[in-house]
This record gives sequence, C-alpha cells and structure tokens, in this order.
Amino acid sequence: MQLVVEESKKLKRNWSTGKALIGCRSCESDNQTEFGAEMLIHFSGLKNLDKPAVWVFPKLVVCLDCAFTEFTIPEAELRLLGEGAAA
Ligand SMILES: [Zn+2]
Repeated sequence: MQLVVEESKKLKRNWSTGKALIGCRSCESDNQTEFGAEMLIHFSGLKNLDKPAVWVFPKLVVCLDCAFTEFTIPEAELRLLGEGAAA
C-alpha cells in the first residue's frame, strides 16, 4: 500500500458515502472510499529506538482500484512528529 501524508490540502468528498469527489491522484479512478484507521507512527533509525511512537487516528481515502491511499495527520500529532524528528 502506498501512503501519502497530506497536511495542508483538504480532500473534498461526499460525506454521506465517504466517496471522494475528485478522482484518485494515481490512476484517476472515482472508486475511492473513506475508512477510519488507527496508526502508530515510529521514528525510524537506531538512534530513535527510545523515542515514543505517535498514535494517529486518521481518515484514509483509499482507491479501491490501485490502492493509492491518502490521509491527513491532525495538527497536534503532526507537531509531535516534528518535535521528535528535530530532537
Ligand atoms: Zn487509484
């Protein structure tokens, strides 16, 4: 699965069906559906083994044709990731 972190652009979607109103950015299919998810993001590299991972509960927009997936990390968790990456 290919993941793209999108922090600034809000996806337009039909909230009753969860379907995105714009096509998939990889294959242009309209066959996209929104899912809830729990995600534990780890800092990579041996030097970061002792850093606590960050829980994120994003909405995923998944293309059911090519598996391209987009989600947005909420601002508070994005800040934690930025602080952890800089430390
Ligand atoms: Zn696609």
